[in-house]
Amino acid sequence: MSEDQSRLDSFLAEMRAEFPAFRIVKKEQSTFAKVLDVALKIITFGGQREFMTRYYTVVGDTLYVPPGFDDVDPIDVIVMLRHERVHLRQRRRYTMIGMTLLYLMLPFPLGLAYARARMEWEAYTETLRATKELKGLEAMRSPRLRDRIVSQFTGAAYGWMWPFKRTVERWYDEAVSALEKE
Ligand SMILES: [Zn+2]
Repeated sequence: MSEDQSRLDSFLAEMRAEFPAFRIVKKEQSTFAKVLDVALKIITFGGQREFMTRYYTVVGDTLYVPPGFDDVDPIDVIVMLRHERVHLRQRRRYTMIGMTLLYLMLPFPLGLAYARARMEWEAYTETLRATKELKGLEAMRSPRLRDRIVSQFTGAAYGWMWPFKRTVERWYDEAVSALEKE
């Protein structure tokens, strides 16, 4: 087993110690994920077409993963899991019902979309921190990573969660410079 793979395994053990019911399910094997896929296509007017093939989604204690999950670099899986762990902790903090309401609610009214955006900001800050710790400063500063994360907020993938690009970019750049000093 590679060193990276054993790092992933020990991270997973750490996560299961904190969240004993945590499990990983492949989207293509889940009826629930398929139903959610149809709902998202309707809600986003077809804007979210990659739910099944590209996105990781946490609902309850389950992480739904796209096909090809087994081939993803173990370090990238840890980075992704650290983002998702933030959502699991948020759910504990806000309770399941509050979280589901906040998270699965349509992008309107704006106040709810803002609450959802704040939760994603917190989780993406952890993505950046994990990227720095596991892949280095240069990886964290990557313009491609910046584009990818900013577009998560402003694009259709999450129902145009927070379409004000300048605000998201400002948040992003502040998070990066704070992490550079950590
Ligand atoms: Zn997230």
